[in-house]
Amino acid sequence: MLDIQRLPAFDDNYLWLLREPSSGAVAVVDPGDAEVVLAALSPLGGRLDWILNTHHHPDHVGGNLALKQATGCRIAGPAKDAARFPSIDRGVVEGDTLALGASSARVIETPGHTRGHISWWFEAEHALFCGDTLFSLGCGRLFEGDADTMWRSLSKLMALPDATRVYCAHEYTLANARFALAVDPDHAPLRARFAEVKALRARGAPTVPSTLGEEKACNPFLRAGDPALAARLGLAGASAAAVFGELRRRKDGFR
Ligand SMILES: [Zn+2]
Repeated sequence: MLDIQRLPAFDDNYLWLLREPSSGAVAVVDPGDAEVVLAALSPLGGRLDWILNTHHHPDHVGGNLALKQATGCRIAGPAKDAARFPSIDRGVVEGDTLALGASSARVIETPGHTRGHISWWFEAEHALFCGDTLFSLGCGRLFEGDADTMWRSLSKLMALPDATRVYCAHEYTLANARFALAVDPDHAPLRARFAEVKALRARGAPTVPSTLGEEKACNPFLRAGDPALAARLGLAGASAAAVFGELRRRKDGFR
């Protein structure tokens, strides 16, 4: 098993601190802020074995070098984007595994938000760290990839078991829900999730992680293959990737 701790940072980032209890091995996913991580490490004796990065954006890697200097940890990130990860120790590609004590993460390449974006999947723990690829009720913006690329990436994540918990990197769920309801207002599972999210946020509670099963049921970006949603968007008969692209375009302009 894995102890997973949520570390809020900046306005709406979540950094994820992982500890494998039998070995005491510790990793942090996307440490945008070193101070937040160091404060959380101190009750654990200061040990940090690995930084697991999903992509190169500053709010995900900003603490890398300070943490490496303070703890001697190693940095793992996408081999295909290694040049944008200063002091990277291990570049990984699709299917690689990285051990954290008795636990093990598998690498899934999920380009689209950035060209080198990867996700870390702890299969036995049903835990997916997907950075800015998949959010609860949303997905990342297409900064360095097109809709086809991102749809392929999301489709890979959708093939994981429904019980998989989705540890994304931002608390964007409420804003995402408003867009989702605008494009898909009558979808009952989405309306139920919206009510839940609103209640959680009203008392300052996190909405992350959700499960992949919930996202497949509610998240419009994962429902791009549903003919009913395509028809609602005026795209009856279009490919899932085309419907996905239209959803992403509308979200980019949604206020
Ligand atoms: Zn990003």
